[in-house]
Amino acid sequence: MTYPKAYDVVVIGGGHAGTEAALAAARMGAQTLLLTHNIETLGQMSCNPAIGGIGKSHLVREIDALGGAMALATDKAGIQFRVLNSRKGAAVRATRAQADRILYKAAIRHTLENQPNLDLFQQGADDILVENGKACAVVTATGIIFRTKTVVLTSGTFLGGVIHIGLDNSKGGRAGDQPSIKLAERLRELKLPVGRLKTGTPARIDARTVDFSVMQTQPGDTPLPVMSFMGNVDMHPEQVNCFITHTNEKTHDIIRKHLDRSPLFSGTIEGVGPRYCPSIEDKIHRFADKNSHQIFIEPEGLTTHELYPNGISTSLPFDVQLEFIRTMAGLENAHITRPGYAIEYDYFNPQNLKPTLETKSIDSLYFAGQINGTTGYEEAGVQGLLAGVNAALSTQDNPVMDSWTPRRDQAYLGVLVDDLITHGTKEPYRMFTSRAEYRLLLREDNADQRLTEIGRKLGLVDDTRWQAYQQKMESMATESARLKDLWATPHNELGKKFTEQTGEVLSKEATAYDLLKRPNVGFNDIAAVTGAQVAADVGEQIEISVKYAGYIDRQQEDIDQMKRLENTQLPADFDYKAVSGLSNEIVQKLNDIRPATLAQASRISGVTPAAIQLLGMTLKKQK
Ligand code: FAD
Repeated sequence: MTYPKAYDVVVIGGGHAGTEAALAAARMGAQTLLLTHNIETLGQMSCNPAIGGIGKSHLVREIDALGGAMALATDKAGIQFRVLNSRKGAAVRATRAQADRILYKAAIRHTLENQPNLDLFQQGADDILVENGKACAVVTATGIIFRTKTVVLTSGTFLGGVIHIGLDNSKGGRAGDQPSIKLAERLRELKLPVGRLKTGTPARIDARTVDFSVMQTQPGDTPLPVMSFMGNVDMHPEQVNCFITHTNEKTHDIIRKHLDRSPLFSGTIEGVGPRYCPSIEDKIHRFADKNSHQIFIEPEGLTTHELYPNGISTSLPFDVQLEFIRTMAGLENAHITRPGYAIEYDYFNPQNLKPTLETKSIDSLYFAGQINGTTGYEEAGVQGLLAGVNAALSTQDNPVMDSWTPRRDQAYLGVLVDDLITHGTKEPYRMFTSRAEYRLLLREDNADQRLTEIGRKLGLVDDTRWQAYQQKMESMATESARLKDLWATPHNELGKKFTEQTGEVLSKEATAYDLLKRPNVGFNDIAAVTGAQVAADVGEQIEISVKYAGYIDRQQEDIDQMKRLENTQLPADFDYKAVSGLSNEIVQKLNDIRPATLAQASRISGVTPAAIQLLGMTLKKQK
C-alpha cells in the first residue's frame, strides 16, 4: 500500500545520524518520518556508551548549539564526566561523559516522541524509489510505500553487515540486530560508489566477577562538567567511578599465539578498520615493543552489572577472549556477558556527496553517518543534523538560504564534511582537533557563538535556547565593558587588592580587562577583586577572548584571506578541460571531485596554487 501521508523528509535509520536528521528536519517545520528497524533501539550506542572526548565533544557542542539532542541526552544519562586536556589550551580541552546506555536511549526516544512534525515508524526499508534521477519514495520490508520529497539514509553498520567472531561469521547489523541486505543490494544496483569497512567492539564483563580493589580508581571531575549549553549538573544522574587495569606479557602471548584464528589476520575480513581505535590483536601486532596497554574498565549503566573494557576490542574466538581477559589484574575470574566481535559493512565514497550531503548521482537522496565512512556517534550525529537541515531546506522556501554547510573556519562540522567530500576516506574517519587548521576559533566552549545564530535563522533553535544565548552574549558584553572601565594603579584600592589576590606586581596603571592578559591571572581573580557577578561560562569566555586575542586575530586574518576563495563558487558543470594551462592530471582530479568552491579545489591534493589562479581567472572572464 501507499501510505496516505506524503512526507517532506523520510529518514531511514534511528541511530545517531538518523535521530539528529529527523529532529532537525522536523524542528525546521518539515513533515518528517523516521523509519527504523526497531523503535526500542532508537539512539542505541553500538559500542562504548561514552559521548565526547577530544575532537568529538567539539562536534557534540556544535550539534547542541544548533538545537540537537545529543548533548542534553548526555547530561541526562552521564554517569561520569571529565574534562580531558584540562591543563592544556582551551582549543584542545574536551568534555567526555560515560553514559548509562538505557538512560541515554530513553532521553533520545523521549525527545523524538515529543517532537512536533515528526512521525516514527518501525520497519526496515528495503528500497528507495528513484524517478527521473530523483528519490521520491521509500518501500518497507512489507511493501508499504512512503512518498517523500527527500530521503536521508543513515543505515550505520547495517548495510551488508557481517559479524565476525574468530573464523565464524554471520550476517548482522550489529550483535542482536538484523542487517540491511535488500537495501544494500538496491544501492549497489543504483551504481553508487561502494566499499567495505570494519569496526569492532570488546567483550562485556559482569562486574560481580571483577576485583576492583587491585585496579586504579578513576573518579569523575569536580566540579562536575556539563555537556550542553542548556545543561546543568542537576540533570545528571548518580555519578560513578571508572577503573584502570593493564594488559601484560601473558595477555600478549595468548593473543600472539592465536593470531591465526583472528579473521583480521587470516584474511577473512577485507574491510579496513579504524586506525585510532584498533583491536587489541592489531595493537599487539603493530606495537610489538610495548609489553602493556592501559585498559579502562567502564560501567555501562546504573542498573546493570555489565562493564565495558575499553581498549580490548577484538574479533578473536570466544575461548581466546576469555583466556586473555583473565590474565589482567582484577579480571582473573571475569565472566563474559557478551563476546567481542568485528563487523564489516558497506560504506559509500563520500566524494560522491555535495557539501549538503546530498548524493551527486541521485537528487534528493542524502547520506549521513557511518555510511559515509566515518566512525563515532558524534561524527554521525553532526552529519545527520546537516543532512536533515539540507533535506528540509530543499523542500522549503527559506528566505535566508536554500542550502547550508558551515565553512572550515566556522565548525568542526565544516572540517568533517570538507575532508570527506574532498579527500574521501579509505578507513573509518574520526574527528581530531588536529584536523582543524583554525582550532583556536573552533573550541568546544564557543560552539554557541559560532552556530546558534545561524541555527536560529534556520529554524533549529527554540525560543528558550535563543533567549539564554542572547542573555549570555549581553552579559559578556556588559561585563567586558565594565572591566575595561575599571582602572587599577600601583597605589589605588583596586591595584592593591589585585596584588594581594594574585601576588602580581603592578608597575603602571591597567584596566581590569587588560590584567587578564597576565598568564597567572584568571577570571576568578579579577572577579574576586572587582566584585564581578557573572555566570562561570561568561567569565570563562571573557578570559579566553583576552588571553588568546593575538592568536585569534591572526587566525581571523588567514580566514579573511581564504574567504575570497570560499565565496567563489565553481558551477557543477564547469568545463575544466577548457581552462588552458591545467595539466591533464589536475583536470581529472577536478572532474572526479567537482569541488563546490575554489577553496575546496585548493584542498584537493595535487591541485596547485597556479591551477587555482587559472581557475579564478577563467571564472572572472566568464562573468
Ligand atoms: P547506527 O548507530 O549504526 O544506526 C543505524 C540505524 O539504522 C539503526 O537503528 C538500524 O536499525 C537502522 N537501519 C539500518 N538500515 C535500515 C533499514 N534498511 N531500514 C530501517 N532502519 C535501518 N565508534 C567509535 O567511535 N568507536 C568505536 O570503537 C566503535 N566501535 C564500534 C563497534 C561496533 C561493533 C559497532 C557496530 C559500531 C562501532 N562504532 C564505534 C561505531 C558507532 O557505533 C557508529 O559510528 C555510530 O553508531 C554510527 O551512527 P549511525 O547513526 O551512522 O548508525
